[in-house]
Amino acid sequence: MKRKNAKTGKVYQRRSKTRILRQSIQALIFLIAVILLIVILKWDNNVPNEKEHREFDDEKENMMEASEDFLLLVNRENPLPADYTVQLKKVQNQHQVDDRIAGYVTDMIDNARKDGVELLICSSYRSVSRQQELFNQEVDKYIAAGRSNNEAIAEAAFGVAVPGHSEHNTGLALDIVTPAYQRLDSGFEETEAFGWLAKNAHKYGFILRYPKNKTHITKIKYEPWHYRFVGVEHARIIKDNGLTLEEYLDDRSNKGKN
Ligand SMILES: [Zn+2]
Repeated sequence: MKRKNAKTGKVYQRRSKTRILRQSIQALIFLIAVILLIVILKWDNNVPNEKEHREFDDEKENMMEASEDFLLLVNRENPLPADYTVQLKKVQNQHQVDDRIAGYVTDMIDNARKDGVELLICSSYRSVSRQQELFNQEVDKYIAAGRSNNEAIAEAAFGVAVPGHSEHNTGLALDIVTPAYQRLDSGFEETEAFGWLAKNAHKYGFILRYPKNKTHITKIKYEPWHYRFVGVEHARIIKDNGLTLEEYLDDRSNKGKN
């Protein structure tokens, strides 16, 4: 009896030790799990924030560096530089722009909508080969109308930029209309969309690139739908002084010389 009791006691003691050990291990595992969970949660919260900040800083820095790039002059006398490259980003439907300006474009469209105005991009980045197709079509129209080849080329160039000389090849230009008026003619200036752009486009870094009374400077017909990104700071000065990009760049280089 005694031995049995002693045995039972030992077994009991051993069991109780085992239980304490098991409970300790469970507690330890629980503690490790809690610590792991905290670490994971913190990591989850911190990493995207840090990344976002870094991206935002990068974007700001890129914009500062790019401020002169955005003044790139592409017109009849100035072709797109041969080594020009552009990183593209989609902004509306399948339209693409230089990815550095995509945020400005989408902000402009979103804020116009908040004011009850629908902006519809109808032309954006265009490759030089696409520009060649458009230009050829325009030349063919004039030839069909009875012009000589040279006359047709000269007349076509007033409406469609010569390939390699179009701002659409830069990824910095947009043709913007509105769903209710999608024709590319001077009637667009009667629309609410044009009114909104005239008042607000510069806030998003865009200028009306081919104004009505400046065709002798731009060598391009009045295009109330064609907007060019130059950056917010330059756009404000250009708008306030009623300049074209050609005049603005001339003023700057003259000031530089003085
Ligand atoms: Zn255009």
